[in-house]
Amino acid sequence: MSIHAKKASDFISNEERTNWHDGALWHVRNKRDISASKIPEWELLRSTASQIKENVLSNLDNYLIQFEEEAKKNGVHVHWAANDDEHNSIVSAILNKHNAKKVVKSKSMLTEECGLNHFLEDQGIEIIDTDLGERIIQLRDEPPSHIVLPAIHIKKEEVGELFHAKLGTEKGNADPTYLTRAARTHLNHKFFEADAAITGVNFAIAETGGIVICTNEGNADMGCHSAPVHIHCMGLEKLLPKAEHLGVFIRLLARSATGQPSTIYTSHYHKPESGKEMHIVIVDNGRSEQLGKEDFRNSLKCIRCGACMNTCPIYRRSGGHSYHATIPGPIGAILQPNRNLQEYSDLPFASTLCGSCSDVCPVKINIHEQLYKWRQEIYKHNELPKSKIIPLKVTTNILASSTMYNIMGKLARTSLKLLPDFLLYNKLNTWGKNRELPAPPKESFKEWYKKNKHE
Ligand code: SF4
Repeated sequence: MSIHAKKASDFISNEERTNWHDGALWHVRNKRDISASKIPEWELLRSTASQIKENVLSNLDNYLIQFEEEAKKNGVHVHWAANDDEHNSIVSAILNKHNAKKVVKSKSMLTEECGLNHFLEDQGIEIIDTDLGERIIQLRDEPPSHIVLPAIHIKKEEVGELFHAKLGTEKGNADPTYLTRAARTHLNHKFFEADAAITGVNFAIAETGGIVICTNEGNADMGCHSAPVHIHCMGLEKLLPKAEHLGVFIRLLARSATGQPSTIYTSHYHKPESGKEMHIVIVDNGRSEQLGKEDFRNSLKCIRCGACMNTCPIYRRSGGHSYHATIPGPIGAILQPNRNLQEYSDLPFASTLCGSCSDVCPVKINIHEQLYKWRQEIYKHNELPKSKIIPLKVTTNILASSTMYNIMGKLARTSLKLLPDFLLYNKLNTWGKNRELPAPPKESFKEWYKKNKHE
């Protein structure tokens, strides 16, 4: 059994949680649909965003140099990291230079990808995630299960128990307002004590050297305004050529993510306040390799809205942790094999290829086509398990010959009626574990059509 299948099996063993998780994400998907339907030019926005990102990917070297030059003119320190180790070392060197021992961080999937928290903790630096969902999972010592809703797999009662144990809230009180206020009080202390603040970056503008951070809680702003040093960590694909392009993406991002017209805070940072220091760390970590792969470069257009996760029937019913990767869901399943084909060869198969992910993607990434392409790559690189190769070869032979197809169809329709249940539903047949076959039809469609075509 693959890692995804095993973890998904653990997740669905709690039927109540699975149904609730599925329903919660479908609710977010519906909110996205309602919000998008109110914008007549929605499809034009998607195409425009996709084209702007196409331009960025085709001219990335120039835009990166332009961004660096403009940011430096603004008095910002710009650093380049080829990989996660370099990223962590750069951040740690900045913190050490300022003798920073207490750091607040707003949500950043890139720092998750680089394993920054544990790296800094090992050096005796306290790093506090200040997004409420991120703080919940940090207190549980777990990775996020969703890129926008990191604690979507946890119920409010579990948060109540966690806060009682870690923050001293009332036992048994799971009221969301009460728990949010308790988290706010706890985090306010951390903001005011912080020696430095770290944030992610949603967009970086080449012509101005500025960056934009979108949050609903204002925690990035709280951190950057209270701490004397702020560090912004960004993947090198986050660029937009001009400030005027921002409007397209801001209109798409929150609507696609949660159905909101925009995030509560859309903050623009250009230069440090007087007496403060501002750093930007630009990280590659496998991105330029992905850029060089014609079939997969589009995945770098991703603006991390999470819409593909909310709509995916597999993600909704297998949970984000089943993807055993920083970025889960359909987009994770096309990004991760680029990082390590062997380790993540199961992910492109965690899909029905229904195409719903591509339909909702605000930057029109052809996600389901890339999933299909990765499957072919995995086969070519001999990473497909025999348990998949043999049935696929048999099926290919059956589907390639109409005589074989007719014979096998007849055989299946007859034998399924006669076979005792235990032959279909047993430990060896994992397919039958959570599924039931419908009653076989009396005849094939071909047979029915031959009889009825003149009616
Ligand atoms: S792939 Fe598209 S839908 Fe999925 S997170 Fe990225 S931008 Fe959003």
